[in-house]
Parts: sequence; structure tokens; C-alpha cells
Amino acid sequence: MSFNWAGDYALAEVYPCLAVLDVDIGCKVADKWSDGGWRWNWRRQVEGGVSAGQVVELGIKLTEERCVEGLDFWYWQIDPDGKFTVAGTRNWIDEKVLPSAMCSTKWCSWVPKKVNIFVWRVLWKRLPTQLALKARGIGVESVLCPTCSDEEETVNHVISSCSVASSIWDLVTRWLQVTRNLGTGSDSLFQWLEGERMTVDKKKLLEAIVWSTMWVLWRFRNDKVHEANLMRKDTLFDFIQDVSFCWFNSRQKKLRISWVDWLQNPFYFM
Ligand SMILES: [Zn+2]
Repeated sequence: MSFNWAGDYALAEVYPCLAVLDVDIGCKVADKWSDGGWRWNWRRQVEGGVSAGQVVELGIKLTEERCVEGLDFWYWQIDPDGKFTVAGTRNWIDEKVLPSAMCSTKWCSWVPKKVNIFVWRVLWKRLPTQLALKARGIGVESVLCPTCSDEEETVNHVISSCSVASSIWDLVTRWLQVTRNLGTGSDSLFQWLEGERMTVDKKKLLEAIVWSTMWVLWRFRNDKVHEANLMRKDTLFDFIQDVSFCWFNSRQKKLRISWVDWLQNPFYFM
């Protein structure tokens, strides 16, 4: 009775009066199971009082438990089949440990690996913004956005709501003749992409251009922070068109769009 047969506690803890009456308190389930029923071996006749009540209660409790004769085996509770697998356990750990995002991200082969990784970091808010650095105890002069100095620098701010980002998104959406939803956070960009209904190729291209835009905005921000002064605000949009065109043309051979057509609106030619 000193093991957990049913429920979260040993029967000896739940029924202490019966435990002292049992001939073998350390018995196993199999010792008490015989011919499809429970067999008890008390030191004396149990008649009336608390002990008798507990015998009835114990009988009811154990009828709820399914018991079959055979060898003992381990049951892996995490898996519905009761079997341990590394993959199942890993999925379970991922579900419990990793934060959940509102949108899923996928690999886009029309932009470089570094951009894909960067976008993944945006989705999970894993960029070293001034605010994030301060939260990790790293000394920063100011948590304000190094570009506009109007608000604290968060991932949402840099990628979406900063005045520089807003003006760039206006130019990008006007160029592509698409309407971006009205959300201001970086999440709204991912939701917008996910909600767009267009052909597979067009959607992939939109994704590639939006991701390129995010990457350029972050690059511009880094340029400011490190005072490299390599990029000018008024050339950011040109740079986005330029870099996305190079990546698009060099990373796939199926679709050909000229530079002139690209500048006009690549969607017209797909
Ligand atoms: Zn800003």
C-alpha cells in the first residue's frame, strides 16, 4: 500500500487505518490481485468504525482503476500511445518552452539566408534594440530610437512605427499597389502577409520585398547607432528596390523581369 496505485498518493497515506492492518504494507498491486478481483489480507477482522468505512471507500476507488494481469511496463504519459520517442518528447518540450507567435514564418528562397534569419528574429522580437539591451543590463546611453528620438526603441518601433519606417512602407505599398493593414506593430506586417490573397509567386515576391524592407530598415538603424553614415534616408527606398531586384533575379530562373519593369511594379509582369 505504500506505492501509488491510484491517484497521486500512496494508499497507505490516504487510508492510514487500513495500512496498519495490512499484513504486508509494502505489497505490490499484483500481490493483491487474484482471479480478476482484489484480495486483502488484514491482521484482524475489520468490523465497523473508521477502518470499515475506509475498506468500502478503497473498494470503490479501485473499481475505477483498470487492472490487467501481465508484466509491468513503463507508460510515457506525454505521448498518447504511451511510448517514449525522442521526436515526441522534443515536440512536447518545444510546445512548453518556446513562446507562441501569432504568425508563422517560413523560409523564403528569394532572399539570402541572413535575411531569413533576421526576419525570424523580428518575429520573435529578438533584435538587440536599445530597450532590449538595457533590459539585459547592458549600459546604453539612451533607450530612445537613434533615428527619430521620439520613442523608446523596440522591434515594433524600428520595423514599423518609426517615422522613417512609416514613410518607407508608404513608398513600398504605393510602388507595389497593395494596401497594408492599419496595424502599427511588426506583427501586423506578418499578419498582413499571411492574409493576402494572391497567386503563390506574387505572394512569395511580396514576402521577399517586405522582408528586404525590414532588413534595410534595420541596417539603416545600425548605421545610425554605429555612426557609419553609409546610408542616407532619402536613398533607402531606392536601395530596397535595388537589393530586392538583385536577389530576385539571382535566386530564381523561372521568372524574368527587367529592371525597368521592376521599377514600375514587378507584380504587373508576373
Ligand atoms: Zn524612431
